[in-house]
Amino acid sequence: MLMRDVMQCRPLRVFISEKHGGFGGHVSQCLSMLEASSYESLPLSLMMGINGALFIQPVTKYASDEVASDILVRFANEQAMGGLMITEPGFGSDALHMQTNCRNEGNGYRIEGTKHWAGLTGWADYWLLTARKKKNDGTLARDIEFFIHDSRNSGLVVEEYFENLGLYMLPYGRNRINIHVPESHRIEPPSTGIKLMLDMLHRSRLQFPGMAMGFLRRIADDALEHVTTRNVGGKSLFQYDQVKDRIVRIQSWFTSCAAMCRFTSEHAPVSRDLSTVDIPANAIKSVVTDMMQDAAQSFLQLAGANGYRLDHMAGRGTIDSRPFQIFEGSNDILYQQITESVIKKMRKSGLPSLYSYLKSNELTSKASEYLQKVTDFSMDQTLSQRKQVILGKMLGYAITMNMVIELGERGFQSQLIHNTLEVLSADIKTMLSALDASTATNPVEAIGKEDDWFAFV
Ligand SMILES: Cc1cc2nc3c(=O)[nH]c(=O)nc-3n(C[C@H](O)[C@H](O)[C@H](O)COP(=O)(O)OP(=O)(O)OC[C@H]3O[C@@H](n4cnc5c(N)ncnc54)[C@H](O)[C@@H]3O)c2cc1C
Repeated sequence: MLMRDVMQCRPLRVFISEKHGGFGGHVSQCLSMLEASSYESLPLSLMMGINGALFIQPVTKYASDEVASDILVRFANEQAMGGLMITEPGFGSDALHMQTNCRNEGNGYRIEGTKHWAGLTGWADYWLLTARKKKNDGTLARDIEFFIHDSRNSGLVVEEYFENLGLYMLPYGRNRINIHVPESHRIEPPSTGIKLMLDMLHRSRLQFPGMAMGFLRRIADDALEHVTTRNVGGKSLFQYDQVKDRIVRIQSWFTSCAAMCRFTSEHAPVSRDLSTVDIPANAIKSVVTDMMQDAAQSFLQLAGANGYRLDHMAGRGTIDSRPFQIFEGSNDILYQQITESVIKKMRKSGLPSLYSYLKSNELTSKASEYLQKVTDFSMDQTLSQRKQVILGKMLGYAITMNMVIELGERGFQSQLIHNTLEVLSADIKTMLSALDASTATNPVEAIGKEDDWFAFV
């Protein structure tokens, strides 16, 4: 019902170029629409984000003019919807080894395989589908191919709809694929399909702050309203120091996200090739989704028992924001990849300390002044994976700090900027201590019956 009313306003036009009947696809306007949606409903905003970043933008950029015009006009005028199918039951994080395959057949391609967890399963009018080419010897080529499938054509069967934990508005499931796609609907990448995929995924990750922005603003508004009106022990919750700490953190995540929106608006136009922009894309996606989850958890704590009602924003937000830390790159993996990229760059340029890297890099040079004392150490280049993850998160926070400083320079509210820099600096110090303290413990292989505490009483 909500969705039908919203879609009648044809909001997806912000993603669409003027020649296809949209408003021009300006990134700041796309983020602003995602923000307005997520203030009301995070799943609604995710639905917009899927259509925009995972279908409309890549089709605008990479499909032939004829195919793009035909399809995008339907998005602008007829409320058509589209999604992206990459993930398979056996291949999620390891998507490059996907088994869905394609081969020439007639005047196009036969594509066969199984995909699951694609947002808008069973709903989308169009799918951007990924597969690997079957070679003559039966093995699959390394590169990834992209195709556009029109759901009016047969061959895409939903075998099962999943019972999602949250994001109720969005259908997910498992699709059996056996389709024929005409030659015109295969996307010809400018170089490799993997580079196309990186450009698309990095652009999408850079736009996560649009979905996060309204969500964090709503939590900041509702949490503040709650703590200023709820009395406990004869005074308002707002007067308790621990409560203030939680509110300051929520507001800091709001401010950090605003800084990211400013950054993305100025650095990620659809025309730019973002395939090598891995560090800011991975940092923004993983940091902002951790902030969404942390803000929701804090709001739930502050809301008390009422927050646990199914219809309360705090509990809903906790569940709905959780998968953002998993999809489009699991945060654990993205943090590790940030560290790997930074270590590679440091090795190449022979920089002696972490501080010297932060200072010399435009993504962190301004933040480095706040972090000199704690980062002036030479980097161990053979960190364990768990340490790489901690360091990657720390680097993500340093990049965020830089964006917050730049937002402050543009005149954003100074107390929010000041508090946010304090919070981010303190968290960075905590992460650096954790880096030091982390040891190479190994899990036990099994927890058996003999490991029952009762036997030791
Ligand atoms: C709500 C939701 C929406 C989604 N939407 C889409 C969509 O629209 N289109 C689509 O194609 N897919 C979508 N997905 C799928 C999503 O992208 C995958 O779930 C994700 O890539 C992880 O893959 P997986 O589930 O197979 O987990 P796995 O690959 O099995 O990974 C599970 C966990 O194992 C750990 N792990 C994995 N590899 C490593 C490693 N190398 N090092 C350390 N730890 C590791 C991480 O903690 C990771 O989170 C969606 C998923 C969800 C939950």
